[in-house]
Amino acid sequence: MFMFKKILIANRGEIASRVAATARRMAIKTVAVYSDADADAKHVTACDEAVHIGGSAPKDSYLRWQRIIAAAQATGADAIHPGYGFLSENEEFAQACAEAGLVFIGPPASAIKAMGLKAESKRLMEKAGVPLVPGYHGSDQNPALLQREADRIGYPVLIKASAGGGGKGMRAVDTSEDFAAALASCQREAINSFGDDAVLIEKYAQRPRHIEIQIFGDTQGNYVHLFERDCSVQRRHQKVLEEAPAPGMTEAMRQQMGEAAVAAARAVHYVGAGTVEFIVENLDGGGKSAPSGGSEAHAVASVGANFYFMEMNTRLQVEHPVTEAITGLDLVEWQLRVAAGQPLPLKQAQLRRQGHAIEARICAESPDNQFLPATGTLQVYRQPVCTRFERADGPVHVRIDDGVREGDAISPYYDSMVAKLIVHGDSREQALARMDQALSEFHIVGLQTNVQFLRHVVQSQSFAKADLDTALIPREAGVLFHQEKLGLPVAVAAAVALTLEEEKSRETADPFSRTDGWRLHGPSQRRFEFEFHGETQAAQLARAHDGTLQLALGDARLPMHYSATAKGLQLELDGQRWRLQTYRRGEVVHVFGATGATQITEIDLLAHAGVAQHEAGRLTAPMPGKVVSFQVKAGDTVSRGQALAVMEAMKMEHTIAAPADGVVAEILYAPGDQVLEGAELLTMAA
Ligand code: ADP
Repeated sequence: MFMFKKILIANRGEIASRVAATARRMAIKTVAVYSDADADAKHVTACDEAVHIGGSAPKDSYLRWQRIIAAAQATGADAIHPGYGFLSENEEFAQACAEAGLVFIGPPASAIKAMGLKAESKRLMEKAGVPLVPGYHGSDQNPALLQREADRIGYPVLIKASAGGGGKGMRAVDTSEDFAAALASCQREAINSFGDDAVLIEKYAQRPRHIEIQIFGDTQGNYVHLFERDCSVQRRHQKVLEEAPAPGMTEAMRQQMGEAAVAAARAVHYVGAGTVEFIVENLDGGGKSAPSGGSEAHAVASVGANFYFMEMNTRLQVEHPVTEAITGLDLVEWQLRVAAGQPLPLKQAQLRRQGHAIEARICAESPDNQFLPATGTLQVYRQPVCTRFERADGPVHVRIDDGVREGDAISPYYDSMVAKLIVHGDSREQALARMDQALSEFHIVGLQTNVQFLRHVVQSQSFAKADLDTALIPREAGVLFHQEKLGLPVAVAAAVALTLEEEKSRETADPFSRTDGWRLHGPSQRRFEFEFHGETQAAQLARAHDGTLQLALGDARLPMHYSATAKGLQLELDGQRWRLQTYRRGEVVHVFGATGATQITEIDLLAHAGVAQHEAGRLTAPMPGKVVSFQVKAGDTVSRGQALAVMEAMKMEHTIAAPADGVVAEILYAPGDQVLEGAELLTMAA
């Protein structure tokens, strides 16, 4: 059977790496393309060859299809895989590939075109007998007519840009009076974003679910569906978590939806991987009926569920791995086979589902700040271990698809998705528990991410009970945003332990810098100051003669014990044990634990006041170290900020300055002396 020798991957990031992995497994050579910003990107190293195609902005590189086709020809590629986004649904590009003698790994240009506009695809689906959301999708765009149609449909309605996508160009309208203004604003956004102001109007479903069917077609006219994915958990009409199967889905409904999706594909002579998206009403995922259990058990509750066609995506979806996890198939392999002219590897009756899979999109963004995208460098990027416990071809329990490595930058040019985390379990409960655990082991430092937010979603009552719908995030907002799961005492203790460990390792590295400090002698006290959630927090660590530690925080006196190993920090605080990972970036200590993650900023007592502590006219060493010199002598009049002494600690010199105007009363040490933290160096008279 024919198969390509070499393909060009016209994409970047995780999907380019993902496609390259399957190609490699199939012994197909790969060509990467890259922009300036991606010169050292992971996807470039994942491929056998790479061609630079231009500047960092997509319009200067990943969207320059003439250049990409030229790269394919120059490298002798047989075919182009477009991934998702960029050129994947560009019919001109698909057409140009064909004209250049290259196989476009996707559907025919005619199918892309037919499904490209929401309104037109609806007219087509109506003819094919696929159920549609009640609405108007005519070509007459007269505002008065649109208003009449909206009134007829009944409020609330949703106005959608026909050419829209990615959650953009949509307006929900609650009343007839609001319609005209919403229409105008939707049209403005549509023309700006998509260059086309045509809209359609739909009944706005209340608390609907988004369930989509994965379909596949081949060049011989065979079609199958690979079951459903539930993508109801969304923010701003964009997917956050996806899972398969859909909780509460009955066999009967799965079959109906599968058949409708295949009918949709057949209607446009579809070839390759595609997704037919439906909006579903009145399907109970299990949250409102019996306690958790097998989803099939809720068949009764699903009677009366309706599904309506929303749109068809003529490409591989971001969330395709959940389908791979439950079917044990490689959809990219299927794409390559079909594009090479081979028949579908399996027939409908041969397809099986096993267990439950969930995918989480890990994004560089700030959920607590309206999901504002974040950029920065992945200073720490530690992933959970990917596991496969069963026979070689069995399901992978934890899978990560990403296009980044530690040290890589998340730039403003491309989308904010850093990685996809996919877990599989025998049951939904197990998949959920596994997702939570895997998220707890995903440590990213250097930029804001939604990892902790995703954990809160997974832990929320609604998600845990599969009470799913597109309003889940707003409904559960109280437990999703501004959460602190570790808390001040643990954060402080972890930061203190990290500081002590850092000092210890510096001493071991250089015995002459040995501070002979408080760690070796006891008892002693050491003061720390932190900033936690915007508030300054003072803490004191006391060490007794027998070596036991006590952390004083506010009125609390917490017995503390810790040990640091390569595996992380074992902390016991007030009788409670924690296994933590800590990472320092400057003054900020990032703490990750099984229950959550947080960050705390250590205030350098020397650097901040510019001085050592000043308590009742005394100046004490803020850390153990050596006295280097005194700049003043007893009786000197000094002014605020004037250098009094220099100490050496942590291999650095620290100047101790006068905290206030005054007169030096007494010098208590001589240069060269080792002092403990808290030791009084000199006294001042005001
Ligand atoms: P896009 O192409 O921008 O992704 P879709 O038409 O796929 O737009 O819709 C995106 C999301 O918007 C859906 O997943 C769903 O949450 C919501 N949505 C779309 N149509 C409706 C509707 N008629 N009623 C309620 N919600 C809808």
